[in-house]
Amino acid sequence: MENLKVVIIGAGISGLSAGVALREAGFGVVICDPDPQLVSGEAGVSMWPNGAKALHALGIGSTLSRICPIVTSVQYRDKRGSLISEIPLSPLVETVGQRPYFLTQKDLHDALLSQLGQDHPILGARCLDIKPVGDKVQVILDTGQRLTGDLVVGADGTRSEVRRFMFGNVPLRYLNSIWRTLIEQDNTLNPSNVFTMYSGDQRRVGVQPVSGRHLYLFFEAPISARLDELDRGVESLRTLYDETWSGIVHRLIERVNPLVKRIPIFDFDPLETFVRGRIVLVGDAAHSMAPTLAQGGALAVEDALVLARHLRSNATIEEALNRYDVERRQRTAPIVIAARHRTETILGSDREKTEHWYERLRSGHHDFVETLTQLTLEGPVR
Ligand SMILES: Cc1cc2nc3c(=O)[nH]c(=O)nc-3n(C[C@H](O)[C@H](O)[C@H](O)COP(=O)(O)OP(=O)(O)OC[C@H]3O[C@@H](n4cnc5c(N)ncnc54)[C@H](O)[C@@H]3O)c2cc1C
Repeated sequence: MENLKVVIIGAGISGLSAGVALREAGFGVVICDPDPQLVSGEAGVSMWPNGAKALHALGIGSTLSRICPIVTSVQYRDKRGSLISEIPLSPLVETVGQRPYFLTQKDLHDALLSQLGQDHPILGARCLDIKPVGDKVQVILDTGQRLTGDLVVGADGTRSEVRRFMFGNVPLRYLNSIWRTLIEQDNTLNPSNVFTMYSGDQRRVGVQPVSGRHLYLFFEAPISARLDELDRGVESLRTLYDETWSGIVHRLIERVNPLVKRIPIFDFDPLETFVRGRIVLVGDAAHSMAPTLAQGGALAVEDALVLARHLRSNATIEEALNRYDVERRQRTAPIVIAARHRTETILGSDREKTEHWYERLRSGHHDFVETLTQLTLEGPVR
């Protein structure tokens, strides 16, 4: 198809990626988001090779390859800091032909925005309603504007309003909580080429070099933690990671803003469809998942590419959306479930199961590289 106009609701990773992919396919795009400045927060993001390849297909790979550090291994350490396992990334990179990109969310957003160029999103504008008008769809914004398109893309995240217009309330499942922040790269805390995970007591701390100048820190609470004990800013971290944890973890906590906010993690059961009429979901709105496999952002970029490809190569919008729906549900549903299970294994209360998982890591019988290889070789950009 040609000459479609697409209205995209939300300017996170999925909305911006959809904007870039659809514009590259020759369509008109308009994007809206209530956030007046598109604040992306103090966070990093891992784009494992499937995500990195998808970003190359969007045209921003070379920018990212310049700014992202070359990380050569992932180290799992126990809570005292002793090495459990070091997993070199070279076998993964050699098999799939792409290294992962570890970067700040801001750098990813900026690269996507710059690739969008003049189609900069309308900011400070929330979608209030969506209505069919003839064979078009109209989006009503809280600014009073009305945007009319041939198609609406719901890219408005886990608590998607667009999904609610389409299917009513979909129950979210609370999994656990995470705190995250960025600090300056500091080799006394973590080497600049190693992604380190400290684990113990059904909780984890991740330290990841991102964008060549920062360390991205994340702290994961156990699933069983009482919510009322988790909202005391950095005090909650001091309680969760007590004196039995490595001195490095304590030094990391000292670098966290005392008012750091807890992020509750939700997923929902795979949807029966991502499409209703001329409205289609992408990213977390379609398949929010636990971040344990670090796949939500990568799959959002894949969604964007696949949607644009089907719209370009099918005769009608209905056929294109149907193909997108089947392909992306098949791809994403097993990953949502695998991420949920991995979270339950690592952060859940079955200590034996957790120990067994780390024992496999220690003995070298893990599937870290195989899983990421398979995710890449089964993805839409190989
Ligand atoms: C702690 C954590 C760590 C993660 N780590 C990784 C990782 O390492 N690798 C990875 O690939 N993924 C990771 N993810 C997942 C990844 O961050 C998400 O999958 C991705 O950001 C989803 O992007 P999105 O654009 O779909 O949704 P969002 O980022 O939620 O964006 C939705 C946008 O829609 C806007 N919006 C909301 N309502 C409306 C409305 N009514 N009208 C208009 N706009 C609206 C919002 O303002 C927002 O800008 C992580 C997630 C978490 C929570």
